[in-house]
Amino acid sequence: MPERKAQPRTLRPGATVGVLGGGQLGRMMALSGSAMGYRFVALDPAPDAPCGQVSPQIVAAYDDIGAARELARRADVITYEFENVDAGVAALLAEESYVPQGSALLHTTQHRLREKAAIEAAGVPVAPYRKVASLADLKAAAAELGLPAVLKTVTGGYDGKGQAVLRWEDELEDAFRRLALERADSAASPQGAPAAGDAGSPGASEDAPLVLEKFVPFRCEISVIAARSPRGEVKSFPAAENIHVNNILHLSIVPARVPEAIQRKARELAEKLIAGLDAVGLLAVEMFVTEDGELFVNELAPRPHNSGHYTMDACATSQFEQHVRAVCNLPLGDTELLTPAVMVNVLGQHLEGAVGRCTSDDEDANRLGVISKLHIYGKTESKTGRKMGHINLLCKDTADALAWVEQTNLWRN
Ligand code: AMP
Repeated sequence: MPERKAQPRTLRPGATVGVLGGGQLGRMMALSGSAMGYRFVALDPAPDAPCGQVSPQIVAAYDDIGAARELARRADVITYEFENVDAGVAALLAEESYVPQGSALLHTTQHRLREKAAIEAAGVPVAPYRKVASLADLKAAAAELGLPAVLKTVTGGYDGKGQAVLRWEDELEDAFRRLALERADSAASPQGAPAAGDAGSPGASEDAPLVLEKFVPFRCEISVIAARSPRGEVKSFPAAENIHVNNILHLSIVPARVPEAIQRKARELAEKLIAGLDAVGLLAVEMFVTEDGELFVNELAPRPHNSGHYTMDACATSQFEQHVRAVCNLPLGDTELLTPAVMVNVLGQHLEGAVGRCTSDDEDANRLGVISKLHIYGKTESKTGRKMGHINLLCKDTADALAWVEQTNLWRN
């Protein structure tokens, strides 16, 4: 059913932005928007959540209808900072408040097959894929696409979970059973809750639980964050080159180390996508770049994205300010890159060393001509692999910032 579009409203500083989710993305959005004079209120089940430390917070579960109603009452406009928004809550908020982003795009990006179909419909390439509802489907798909290929659950996967690289035919059966089971598990948990109409068990409906993608032998991975306002203005940020370690983003390098023509094409694709999807707010577009310069979109996120954190210190407008501008229907900010930059994520195991480095004299930084900007999210518990903060390294040449990361010896594990 097509979504009924809310009439665009322009919200001036002084208005209250309600944020579903109180993690680091909400916190940075609130910090940025507060500087412009907006007020914020976050809804998050964890007391003292990162966003709750810088704005009022309603402490309640995401599917708590009473709490959602209170958020609607206190906010003039509502946005979200994560994707697994409960369908019932989204509908209630759209009814009782103003949600310029709507929920259609969330519904699309919560499901890999819907997402791929929407990307293709906007005329943007994705890696060849087949839907997989049974082992027989998987065998047929592997024969058509060839191996290696990547098998993924259509919902619930993140940071490399819910997927397997298949290199040999004798790996198909095990991978199918394992991922079909994972998918059934994630469908049963509230956070991975699929939207209405999804299959609950493998092969239970026409909606396939898995997707097989052709393996793209990429030269690098890049992402572009685009923004669109209800009045239809579209802007994109410079492409970031992303390096992952253990499937978690480690570095974003900007400018990406690919020819300018590819950077331009990536931005054009992201802009075409956000307009084609009729989206409002931010859309992060992750892409593979092949050796011959072809681009394939891998994944979308309809929110601020880790690979856009470099914009906080390196661009004329940050992704967070841009998001607030977009949902409030202000003119979008200039996205010019003011300096080359490298963003390095600070995970639990890096926290102490990184804070120590950035809060004392740093001779390596001075010698390399690198300026480090520390951002810490205020999470109460630090764990290995958990995103605790990031550092934006401003530099004349990204090689100098990469040398700093190397020389600190902090990111070897
Ligand atoms: P995803 O969860 O789809 O973002 O995938 C996580 C990571 O797996 C990506 O960042 C890639 O490094 C790798 N990957 C995913 N899909 C493919 C593919 N079709 N070909 C090659 N590598 C892939």
